[in-house]
Amino acid sequence: MKVTIFGTGYVGLVTGACLAEMGNQVICVDIDASKIERLQRGEVPIYEPGLEPIVRSNGAEGRLGFTTDAVSAVAHGEVIFIAVGTPPDEDGSADLQYVLSVARTIGAHLDRYAVVVNKSTVPVGTADRVRATISQAVESRGVEVPFDVVSNPEFLKEGAAVEDCLKPDRIIVGASSERAVTVLRSLYAPFNRSHDRMVVMDERSAELTKYAANAMLATKISFMNEIANIAERVGADVELVRQGIGSDPRIGHHFIYPGAGYGGSCFPKDVQALERTARSHGYDARLLAAVEAVNHDQKAKLFELISRHFDGQLAGKTIALWGLAFKPNTDDMREAPSRRLMEALWQVGAKVRAFDPEARAETARQYGERDDLVLCEHAYDALQGADVLAIVTEWKAFRSPDFSRIRGLLKTPAIFDGRNLYEPAAVEAAGLAYYGMGRGRSL
Ligand code: NAD
Repeated sequence: MKVTIFGTGYVGLVTGACLAEMGNQVICVDIDASKIERLQRGEVPIYEPGLEPIVRSNGAEGRLGFTTDAVSAVAHGEVIFIAVGTPPDEDGSADLQYVLSVARTIGAHLDRYAVVVNKSTVPVGTADRVRATISQAVESRGVEVPFDVVSNPEFLKEGAAVEDCLKPDRIIVGASSERAVTVLRSLYAPFNRSHDRMVVMDERSAELTKYAANAMLATKISFMNEIANIAERVGADVELVRQGIGSDPRIGHHFIYPGAGYGGSCFPKDVQALERTARSHGYDARLLAAVEAVNHDQKAKLFELISRHFDGQLAGKTIALWGLAFKPNTDDMREAPSRRLMEALWQVGAKVRAFDPEARAETARQYGERDDLVLCEHAYDALQGADVLAIVTEWKAFRSPDFSRIRGLLKTPAIFDGRNLYEPAAVEAAGLAYYGMGRGRSL
């Protein structure tokens, strides 16, 4: 099938590469010319396991192309995906300017039937707005062109995006046209072989399904962080509590890890956007507001623990950070807890030496050259001359470190374990002070 994808970010590029991998002819279009130039050279601008080989091989075989030319891209696709960003607006609601701009472009150039598939995470009612925007642009040309708009939210996880895309748990299709559903069934057939994962529903339900899924996951995290905050006040260890509740199949072990707060480009903005949607319909979504508030405070937690350790005297101290990305296996720094920690440390005159396996370049791009930030090539380099160590992202490489080496390098050996990676007793036995999240003795 001939497929066009607007947006070559985490979602668009992965979707394009995976559809090409199944034999489709895919063109990806972006307004960012430098990104497109890199992709045309076979360079993948983001870190995502397994992505580069399939971008290269499908590019070499002529099934995956990249362009900034929206006109030829619209002319190409029988199926046209919208996978552009929907960042938070000033009031926290989703900013639809990129989605609607793509809709106008499609309407300005479409000349035969196509299925327009919205993959971006968008508020309920956006499929109607996209349909109206395309119709208006088509009508203003004085022509009639049939098309359908489908809502097909994306559920891939950064860090495992290619695998998720190739083997989705479910494919949600919100549509009111049988013709469009048939086209998508055929496009997704290779991803849907072992059993039927496609759930067809109306557009509004599909749009809400995406927000509900992210809000549910964010709620689990904030719930567990709240239990952690109670645990440390009552002298309990939240890690034992986690195992104790996770064994109940109604609760499960997934997504109940306490930590330094959730970040990324989805949970923070999607919880906020859903809350704003509810409010604009006259409903006060108290639970969502609490999920957001707990997370906001949780992101300050590591700083508070470090500050208390030094009796508030952080000026001139150097803090080593392991982990900058908002989660492992990505270079994405959007809303990362590391940012709140670093910015709070800088504000009180502390310095940061940081290591992350993939997010150093993105950190340098975000913050530029500054005296109070050193980005290190190796994990243990970050400890040279540092006072204490904070674990911010749970990369696998941080799970079994050499504690005596850490002790030898730090000036005042202490670990602030923002992801509860270590056994407090093992760290203390190695001669380091240990601070975890909700482990009975941090306060
Ligand atoms: P991103 O910011 O990584 O990429 C968006 C891309 O769209 C950018 O390259 C930008 O230049 C391009 N773009 C903007 N306007 C354009 C236009 N008019 N024409 C062509 N390209 C244009 O975004 P992302 O992380 O891939 O997210 C895209 C959408 O998918 C968002 O709505 C997001 O909420 C949703 N989503 C993201 C994830 C994730 O893990 N990142 C998962 C599921 C859903």
